This record gives sequence, structure tokens and C-alpha cells, in this order.
Amino acid sequence: MMTRIAIYPGSFDPLTRGHEDIIRRSLAFADRVIVAVAVNSSKSPLFTVEERVDLLEAVFAGVEGVEIKSFSGLLAEFAQVHGASLVIRGLRAVSDFEYEFQMALMNRKLHSELETVFLTPDLNLTFLSSSLVREVASLGGDVGEFVHPKVEKALREKLSR
Ligand code: ADP
Repeated sequence: MMTRIAIYPGSFDPLTRGHEDIIRRSLAFADRVIVAVAVNSSKSPLFTVEERVDLLEAVFAGVEGVEIKSFSGLLAEFAQVHGASLVIRGLRAVSDFEYEFQMALMNRKLHSELETVFLTPDLNLTFLSSSLVREVASLGGDVGEFVHPKVEKALREKLSR
């Protein structure tokens, strides 16, 4: 039987309950989900790539079918190298649409067999973003509802420095 491999790329700076929701939903139709943490030089991240990968690994430890990797360069190439046929992206609002649509079409140009699948999270997670979590946490607000306890602890340690 064919193994269906999906790639879920993103910054994950940091991982939120929204990302977790999308990863779990992906497991309903993918045998393996590779969470691909982007090494993106154009953004200045709060957490290093290694820290973001470590957090994802800690949160998904023991969850079968989930693998964490970092990547730089073209997603289409990374997908090909790992035998992935699906790219997972989350859609929260209309504001996500234009960029996501462009990227999906470009990725198809670069790798014609790659399909992008858009998933919507649980309704109460649709307003959530990593940038909002970073902002609230940096101002001393409680983000316990929006991130895993391990992420909350990492945020506290990072921001107390
Ligand atoms: P990027 O820099 O690639 O947008 P993010 O880590 O912000 O990286 O997001 C990765 C993916 O997860 C994107 O497809 C984004 O739309 C999706 N995502 C982020 N937050 C949520 C959320 N709360 N619910 C659903 N999808 C989300």
C-alpha cells in the first residue's frame, strides 16, 4: 500500500494550539506528516530554528506519524526529496487567502504532482497567530490558553532574558 506523506511548512515561531490542531487533522488523511520549520532569513524570529524544532519534538513526542524537520530553500524541492505528495496549510480568514493561493499555484508549477490542502482549525482557534502570541507574551499577558505548556514555559524563559 502507498504511504501518503504530507508536509506542513511554516515558521512555528512559536508553535500554537492552532498549528497543533492542523497537524492532528492532517493525520486523518496522511500516513506521515512532516512538520517543516522554515529557516527564513527575511523574518527575525523570536526562537531559533533549533529551539522551534525542539519545541515541536517535545510536544509531539510519541505521536505516531508526526516528524519534525527544518528546511531552507524551495518547499517543492524539499517535498520531492521526502516523497511527499501533499502540502498542508491552514486557512483562518480571507486575509490568508491571496498569499496562500499564490503559493499553492507556484508550488504546483515547480512540482506538478504536489497538491496543496487547506485546512481550517477549530472555530475558537481561527483568531490565533504566532505573532499575536509573541506580542501578548512580550507584554506580560497570559497565553496559556493558546499554546502548549511547554511552549508557554519556553516563552517565559525567552522573554525574561
Ligand atoms: P508562515 O510564516 O509560513 O505563515 P506560520 O507558522 O505562521 O508560518 O503558519 C504556518 C501555517 O499554519 C500557515 O498555513 C498558517 O496559515 C497556519 N496557521 C497558523 N496559525 C493557525 C491557526 N491558528 N489555525 C490554523 N492555521 C494556522
